[in-house]
This record gives sequence, C-alpha cells and structure tokens, in this order.
Amino acid sequence: MNLAELGAPFEAMVIAGRRRTALSGDSFETLDPGRGEPLGAVPAGGAEDVDLAVQDAKAALKGPWRDCEPKERGRLLRRVAELMRAGGERLAKVESLDSGKPISAARRDVARSADYFDYYAGLCDKLEGTTIPLGRDKLSYTLRAPLGVTAHIVPWNVPLPIAARGLAPALACGNTAVVKPAEETPLSAVILAEILLEAGLPPGVCNVVTGTGEAAGAPLARHPDIAQVTFTGSRETGVAVMKAAAEHVAAVTLELGGKSPVVVLGDADPARAVAGVLKAFTHNAGQICSAGTRLVVERQIHDQLLDGLGARARGLSLGHGLDDPALGPLISETQRNRVSGFVAGARDRGLALVTGGAAARVDRCEAGFFYQPTILDQVPPEDEIAQEEVFGPVLCVQPVDSLEEAIAIANGTRYGLAAGIYTQDISKALIFAREVEAGQVFINGYHNAGDTVPFGGFKESGTGREKGLAALANYCQIKAVTVDL
Ligand code: NAD
Repeated sequence: MNLAELGAPFEAMVIAGRRRTALSGDSFETLDPGRGEPLGAVPAGGAEDVDLAVQDAKAALKGPWRDCEPKERGRLLRRVAELMRAGGERLAKVESLDSGKPISAARRDVARSADYFDYYAGLCDKLEGTTIPLGRDKLSYTLRAPLGVTAHIVPWNVPLPIAARGLAPALACGNTAVVKPAEETPLSAVILAEILLEAGLPPGVCNVVTGTGEAAGAPLARHPDIAQVTFTGSRETGVAVMKAAAEHVAAVTLELGGKSPVVVLGDADPARAVAGVLKAFTHNAGQICSAGTRLVVERQIHDQLLDGLGARARGLSLGHGLDDPALGPLISETQRNRVSGFVAGARDRGLALVTGGAAARVDRCEAGFFYQPTILDQVPPEDEIAQEEVFGPVLCVQPVDSLEEAIAIANGTRYGLAAGIYTQDISKALIFAREVEAGQVFINGYHNAGDTVPFGGFKESGTGREKGLAALANYCQIKAVTVDL
C-alpha cells in the first residue's frame, strides 16, 4: 500500500485554511520505516512559513473564533472527533506507514485522538471563574482568558495523539494554534488540520507547518507572537525550546524523556508482572517516553521473572506495521544506530545479555529499521544504560533486596515521568506511590491510566501536565476583576 491509494496528495502545509507548498519551494521525503523507503514528499517549511502561519493564527484570534459561543465551540470540536472516527481507517493506515507502528496500535491512536476532542469539547462551556469575598463594598471575580497563539511541537513516536492532546484543550480554551509535526512523521498532522477545517473551524485557527526542527521548530519556539509552547520530545531539545520561549516570556509545557522503573516485589503475581513488564518496554518498540525500561526486582523472584520475560520477548513478532506485528520497526536508521550504540556500550562494559542485543531482519522488509527486544541483567544503577533514555525495546534489570532499596533505585535518575509496582501488599504499593518521584504511578498494571488522567514529569522529565482537567492550566490565563461598589 502507498500514499496514492490512501487519497494522497499530502504534499502540503495548511496555512490560513489553504494547502500550500513552502515559500522556498523546497521539500523533503518522509520514509516508510518498515521498508526503509521514501513514502512521499512534504514541504520543507522555514522561518518565513512559520511567520506566515503565526501571523495568520494571530489574525484568527480576532476573527469569528473570538465570537464563537462556548457551546458552539464545543459542537465544532465534537464534530472533529466524529470526522476523525469516520475517516479513521485511512488515518490509521497513513500513521502506520509513516511511523512504522502496528496498524492495530495506529487504530487505537486514532480512537484516542478523537476521544481527546470529545473530552475537551465538553469543557468549552464549563470554563468558569470564581468570586473572591472582599467585603460588602467590593466585587471581585475571575475570568479565564485564552493565551493567544499556541505552538505545538510534536515528536515522531505518537504523532496523532500528542498533537490532539495539546490542540484539543488549546482550542477549547479559545486559543489558536500552529502545529509543527516531527519531520519523520508529518502526515497525520496535515490530515488533522484538514479535518478541523471540514468540521467548520475558521481558517487560521489551526495551521500546520512541516519542516525540520532546526528550520521550522526553532523559529516557531522563538517567535515573539507565540504565547505558549507545548513541546514533547528529547530533554536536549526541550531545554532549547525553553530557552527560546524565555526570550519573549512565553509559557512552556514540556514533556521530555524518562527512564521509568517497574518495581516487582517478591510477593507479586509473576504472570501478571511478566505481562506488564513485557508491555512496558516493548510497546511501540520501546519508543514511548513513559516506557518502563528498568525492571527493579526483588531477588527472590528475579530468576522466575527473567525466565518468563526472556521466553515471551523471544516469541514476539516483528514486522511491517500494516502486517500488525507485536513490534514494528524503529523510526529511522539514526534511531536504530542510537539504540545499537547504547547496547554495544553496555556489552563492552560486561553487562549480561538475557536476550536480543542486535538489529533484526524481517522477510520482505530487509531495509526496515527493526531491533530485537533486548534484556540486560544485573545492570548497576549508575551505568549509562540505566540512566539514559534509549528509546528502543531495551530493558535493564536491577535486582534489589527490599522495598526501600527499590525506591532508592527507582528515584536514582534525573528523570521522573512514570513508575510501576507489582505487589500483593497494598501498604507497600501505597508507600511506593508516596515516595516515588514520578508524575504517574501504576499499581499492578502498567500504562493503565488512560487519556483523561494528568500526565507529565517530575524532575527533568518536564514541566506542566497534559491530559485531563489539569491540561486546562496550560491554555487559560486568569484575569481578576475588582470593582469598588
Ligand atoms: P527531538 O526532541 O529533537 O524532536 C522532537 C520535535 O522537536 C520534532 O518535531 C523536531 O522537529 C523538533 N525540534 C528539533 N529541534 C528543535 C529545536 N531546536 N527547536 C524546536 N523544535 C525542535 O527528538 P529526536 O531528535 O527526533 O529524537 C532524539 C531522542 O529524543 C530520541 O532518541 C528519544 O530518546 C527522545 N525522544 C523523546 C520523545 C518523547 O516522547 N519524550 C519523543 C521523541 C524522541
């Protein structure tokens, strides 16, 4: 299957409600990572295109969008959800081809993205203020005002839901937006912008500029007319975005990396723990910021757990996304080299390999970027591979002798995005939840929270929270009005 069969062309950015090429006329290829082949050409947007999009989004703040009643704004966003579901199969196939993810995962991503629009659609007419008692002679109240033009810089690992989870609350609060999808996966954002127009959102309310991080992302983050930047991606780029936004005092919501621990205590149900840990480090081929990539396991259950995990990991299927394997490819050769480099370094330092440890070859997809599910045992807490985000299907096993030691190891990185624990002892689970430095905690499951639960990082995993009601704080500012009566 190719893009033409899916109703291409996608070769466009969306600015002011119109498809456009880059002002420079340049384009770049996006790849099918399962075949390692070009999928289609996309405009290489630059600073001038970003400026056009931001000016357009700024003008749209004063247009019919400002006068759109909250209930009507809700109806429009609900219509976006309906259109996403109606065109869901095409969207899922494009996303699977562009990102490499298994088609069933891409279908779930479309469903989740539509759910974000439904959820925030319901909040448009519930953004209430408060009154503050100052005595009989005064009236003081608060209003929630939009911030202005919001920028959304999106990574390649979960392109559509990450764009949707920022856009939906930003628009619900009355802002306008410029989206910069990752250069590896630009296609679904362009389709999303077209769905927003079809749903009836005024032109300019949501613009999409495709292009590289350097050429399009950086000018967007530093643009003086941007009021807020939502960024998901690497810690290093997040720091650059934060510095750029600081130049014009724009707010930032950063969702960065993680090195999330899954603790398994000796009394845990082994079958449940094996299933949870397997999913935690192999879902999306490990390319998830909240992936559980460190198994912190009590010694008495270590061997049993590793036998089960090794056998299950070796049995996982790898293949092209459209063939719906357990694991698709990594996003690029660069990413596979990065993962290989981390694992090679760990092996050079003498770390024990339980399974995997190499690129994988898939029939009919010989040029795809596949990597075997990999488990390394007895990894010291300070080792590079226990500290750095690998972003591939690589699990580090760290044996411990007590809950206290498990908590210390769990908290022993600069990150703090997610954490899991498996145990039958509710007190130990809740002590762990209290002590662990992580924005989301999973008990006797992993990634069990869903898309309406606040998500974001402690420490260097980021700042601010996305999803749920908590996300509204990113996209509204409070205006307090006081009257002397
Ligand atoms: P990245 O953080 O550089 O890219 C994420 C987004 O930021 C992309 O849209 C990119 O075009 C844009 N970008 C890049 N440089 C920019 C700049 N200077 N200003 C503004 N925007 C910019 O990530 P990457 O290089 O694609 O991947 C590198 C590593 O980052 C991965 O190996 C992984 O460890 C991590 N990563 C994390 C996430 C996550 O969800 N936390 C997602 C993708 C990658």
